[in-house]
Amino acid sequence: MYNVKSLKAEEFISHDEILETLAYAEKNKNNKELIESILKKAEERKGLSHREASVLLECDDEEITNRIYSLAKQIKKDFYGNRIVMFAPLYLSNYCVNGCLYCPYHFKNKNIARKKLTQEEVKKEVIALQDMGHKRLALEAGEDPVNNPIEYILECINTIYSIKHKNGAIRRVNVNIAATTVENYRKLKDAGIGTYILFQETYNKESYEYLHPTGPKHNYAYHTEAMDRAMEGGIDDVGLGVLFGLEMYKYEFAGLLMHAEHLEAVHGVGPHTISVPRIKPADGINPDDFDNGISNEIFAKLCALIRISVPYTGMIISTRESKEVREKVLSLGVSQISGASRTSVGGYCEEEDEDDNSAQFDVSDKRTLDEVVKWLMELGYIPSFCTACYREGRTGDRFMSLCKTGQIQNCCHPNALMTLKNI
Ligand code: SF4
Repeated sequence: MYNVKSLKAEEFISHDEILETLAYAEKNKNNKELIESILKKAEERKGLSHREASVLLECDDEEITNRIYSLAKQIKKDFYGNRIVMFAPLYLSNYCVNGCLYCPYHFKNKNIARKKLTQEEVKKEVIALQDMGHKRLALEAGEDPVNNPIEYILECINTIYSIKHKNGAIRRVNVNIAATTVENYRKLKDAGIGTYILFQETYNKESYEYLHPTGPKHNYAYHTEAMDRAMEGGIDDVGLGVLFGLEMYKYEFAGLLMHAEHLEAVHGVGPHTISVPRIKPADGINPDDFDNGISNEIFAKLCALIRISVPYTGMIISTRESKEVREKVLSLGVSQISGASRTSVGGYCEEEDEDDNSAQFDVSDKRTLDEVVKWLMELGYIPSFCTACYREGRTGDRFMSLCKTGQIQNCCHPNALMTLKNI
């Protein structure tokens, strides 16, 4: 039985409610009156329910799709101005006890070199990232209670925040680690993390259990209820995401919005961010083995619909996607991107030997950070590393004036700063 306020995964992500939503969307995909009323609600920046948004997703009228795109662009502009928040993933360890079928870190993979950074190596990686200009990191680690216990993650966070190098320090450490206990979330909160990110992978319980045949991640309820425990542990900012391509995208889209609605209903605050990864090639992983891949067009529509359905939420896209795809979805709602990412353990200090092959997925956008910054500036965006503009206002104007007067010049990327000074 669907209950948005329930704390049980199968009730707030009710399978029956998703099936009924998909049937409702199919039935109403040409219902002009309903579609107009949904668009009007979205125009008022009130967000959309999973049922309303699913109707728009199902509707294939080109004119309606163009109106969704225009609205998404406008909402993006109103809420975020032209700022794009920049970050980089930092892989700490690829030891993992889970058996996820879509990830090369699964414990049965013997081709991959297993690595775990020492604190000295963490330091070196962070200094390399700071030299590139990064100020915000997303920590990544497999689930392994022996090799990557919470104490190790906490030690790494502590090391990272303690590094003072050249033009400052890392400002925000977001953390993407396996679902854990309230007690451990409290420890992460006390360590000063930014956002706790956990991708659901898929909201379909049956597929979830098939795709996670072994290991603690097999437990659908424990994984799906993780954000509630994180919030109980005091973490205010949580980041949702599904791995598009594993299940039918319409199902995932409805589930994702139901999850956001649940967090809002129970905790009074929705997700801080929503990520939109698509499955990509990696060691032993061929995306074609999964039947539910989505085209760039559908991907763009999903991004636009998330933007108008959850207007307040940051949207994240990684270097999994190509420059072309990133450019398209930046205008439709994405507000945070990674740049010059290395998806292997220790990859920022040393190019990995091909035989080691420890990357979690192949990167599509292989440009340097300077190239990404230049590209963003040419498109009219302001790449924000230090996020001073977050604190100073939404439009970025104040940020620009602070940059020009040199008041925050010590905390931003030199190339962005140079360009700003010449505007
Ligand atoms: S997705 Fe995460 S939990 Fe699953 S194998 Fe990869 S690193 Fe481990």
